[in-house]
Amino acid sequence: MSGRDGQREQDGFETRAIHAGAPPDPVTGAVVPAVSLSTTYAQSAVGEHLGYEYSRSGNPTRAALEACLADLEGAAHGLAFSSGLAAEHAVLSLLVPGDHVIIPGDAYGGTFRLVDRVHQPMGVAYTSASLTSAAGGLAGLEAAWQPTTKMVWVETPSNPLLGIADIAALAAATHDRGGVLVVDNTFATPYLQQPLALGADIVVHSTTKYLGGHSDVVGGFAATSDGCLAERLAFFQNSIGGVPSPFDCYLVLRGIKTLAVRMERHCDNAEAVASMLQSHPAVSRVLYPGLPRDPGAAVSSQQMRRAGGMVSFILAGGEPDALDVARSTRLWTLAESLGAVESLIEHPHRMTHASVAGSPLAVDPGLLRLSVGLESVADLISDLTEALDRGGRHLAR
Ligand SMILES: *Cc1c(COP(=O)(O)O)cnc(C)c1O
Repeated sequence: MSGRDGQREQDGFETRAIHAGAPPDPVTGAVVPAVSLSTTYAQSAVGEHLGYEYSRSGNPTRAALEACLADLEGAAHGLAFSSGLAAEHAVLSLLVPGDHVIIPGDAYGGTFRLVDRVHQPMGVAYTSASLTSAAGGLAGLEAAWQPTTKMVWVETPSNPLLGIADIAALAAATHDRGGVLVVDNTFATPYLQQPLALGADIVVHSTTKYLGGHSDVVGGFAATSDGCLAERLAFFQNSIGGVPSPFDCYLVLRGIKTLAVRMERHCDNAEAVASMLQSHPAVSRVLYPGLPRDPGAAVSSQQMRRAGGMVSFILAGGEPDALDVARSTRLWTLAESLGAVESLIEHPHRMTHASVAGSPLAVDPGLLRLSVGLESVADLISDLTEALDRGGRHLAR
């Protein structure tokens, strides 16, 4: 579980992504951690063992993943889960009946549902607030704060609107009032943004996305440098039991080794796609914090290395155009999820955010979200341009 050792901290991100938590096996010399399938571990006397007792409580492959990701987030402690939502559930379990949490107005739909339909019925109150810097995030936090507020949940860049929240400012305001700041860092990954260094208390991830990176594993992660929080989260990890399989841990570890190079290319391709969209007549608005005039540009350039691989845009012709474009691309696969090598397109209003329609989180029906993959960017642009030229017909009418 421990992520830091003095030696590693000197090394660059790319080096740590490949080596942290996974030194060559001392017995066999294997450079890849073994997928350790054993569910139980021999004890030499009652309570005397080599560090593992039962695989839900601790597993060597999971420990390698936890050490690697904690290191990349600059965290003292990291915990792997069976999905992003399992990680979020463990973090939200820090709240007890009577507590209040502030969540972002454009949170990931599954996060909203977890708070609204699972934790609220158990007695945890919540308020959704605009926490993005462009919407005056600090004022949103202040207005939503209650005497019982214990936690502020932030997602930046947000899904699917790619709003940017000022992590350092929100962390300071949350700490002034005695709360804990949680950042969902799924869209940025630790390569582009490290929330703990900016003052956040807990970072959560869906490792299903960029960290796994190949659309072949569902997983989650939480990291913190606060020993008390880490102990409670480890208790929930073991007590609730949402742990990842050893093979899933291996797949995420494998993905992380190439995270830095993948993220650089995701960003290159996303920048090119965003600038094409900006000049296309069928598009009324492009949401990408890497565009100089984007409302999130200033804050994202301070807290992120680059703007990431997700781009959203609104069709001038509204929902009919959005649905046409979504079904007429050839290379961009119409699918949920994001963050992998293949490019995906989706319609948040009807797909990922359908469960929140009618709530404050309802998204524009003309909005499409792109997960820009690693194919040839020329191919991606020509395929999308052709779909837009065809889909733009509602505009022409
Ligand atoms: C996908 C996602 C989640 C949920 O993760 P799962 O692995 O699907 O459970 C949470 N937050 C964000 C931003 C996501 O994109």
